[in-house]
Amino acid sequence: MIKELTAEKNISSLIEKLEKQHSLDKKGLIMLLSMENPSELYKAADRVRKKYVGDEVHLRGLIEFSNYCHNTCFYCGLRGPNKAIKRYRMEPEEIIECAKRGVEMELKTIVLQSGEDRYYKITTLCNIVEKIKEMDVAVTLIIGELSKKEYAELKKAGADRYLLRIETTNRELYRKLHPGMSYENRLRCLMDLRELGYEVGTGSLIGLPGQTLEMLADDLLFFKKINADMLGIGPFIPCENTPLEKEKGGDVNLVLKMIALSRLLLPDINIPATTALAVKDKDGYAKGLQCGANVIMPNIGIEEYKRLYKLYPGKVPDDPNEAVNSIENIKKVILSQNRSIGKDKGYRKKVFH
Ligand code: SAM
Repeated sequence: MIKELTAEKNISSLIEKLEKQHSLDKKGLIMLLSMENPSELYKAADRVRKKYVGDEVHLRGLIEFSNYCHNTCFYCGLRGPNKAIKRYRMEPEEIIECAKRGVEMELKTIVLQSGEDRYYKITTLCNIVEKIKEMDVAVTLIIGELSKKEYAELKKAGADRYLLRIETTNRELYRKLHPGMSYENRLRCLMDLRELGYEVGTGSLIGLPGQTLEMLADDLLFFKKINADMLGIGPFIPCENTPLEKEKGGDVNLVLKMIALSRLLLPDINIPATTALAVKDKDGYAKGLQCGANVIMPNIGIEEYKRLYKLYPGKVPDDPNEAVNSIENIKKVILSQNRSIGKDKGYRKKVFH
């Protein structure tokens, strides 16, 4: 009994320290990640979110413009060797048309995401970015590993933000899950993006086979060390026709703990409640928003393509009106949480130094 009370007191003082100082060592992070009842942690993250980034939830309109990919990531349904999915590429005009519709829906950020598809020349991508920037919105890219020169050209064309998840900071696990890729190159990309003046996002997949709490604590310390401007953290969801199809997948509570700890470590950054979280748990968006998240990414792409961008199952239901990541559903969730919809481009506030 005394032992339990002491442990509880220790946990409370760790949360208090994090809330005041926004830093914690690895041992402390592991203790918080292993908490059985994390409600105090969630409440602290929610207070910090409110204090630093307010009640606004920024909507980022997502366009998944190509599902071709030359990578072979073990967890991803788009991996090159997966011959079971139909591949598509959107024409530049189609992408711009979708962005236009997003702007008409009053979205202030357009996100362009794809598999790693070398079909599009950098000049083509730059033209698309330039056209979208003319609509007075921020542009985020999630198109993978490129050279510094290519990142620089896209920046010059007007791209504001770039998201490249490190997926896991454990080099051994990274190597096992990404044949033919290199952890060092992923790091190089993140450093190049930072140097070029992008708002830089990274993040992890939670629940990868072989991943431990110690590894997740290292991920958190990495996010802090590189001072990420955005963090995309979601559960790994096993996908058919991939080497990990029979695995268990990520636990929602562990994802929420990672979101909460990220908010406490980096109080003024942008953190989405991810689509994967909402697919894994029907209340995933609401839960994410209660644990520190302040961003959601509605999918504004073309119906026919949405169902082909199949990173994991459950992303697109048979009835598109039931899609968790439709803008209508997302707005409802935000309002149900007594939060408001962001009215500006939602850059990082940079109020914490
Ligand atoms: N290839 C680019 C990259 O590496 O950033 C962008 C596209 S990639 C499909 C976008 C993200 O999808 C990855 O960072 C990964 O974390 C996530 N993802 C892939 N497969 C997933 C799965 N089975 N469950 C959950 N998320 C997954």
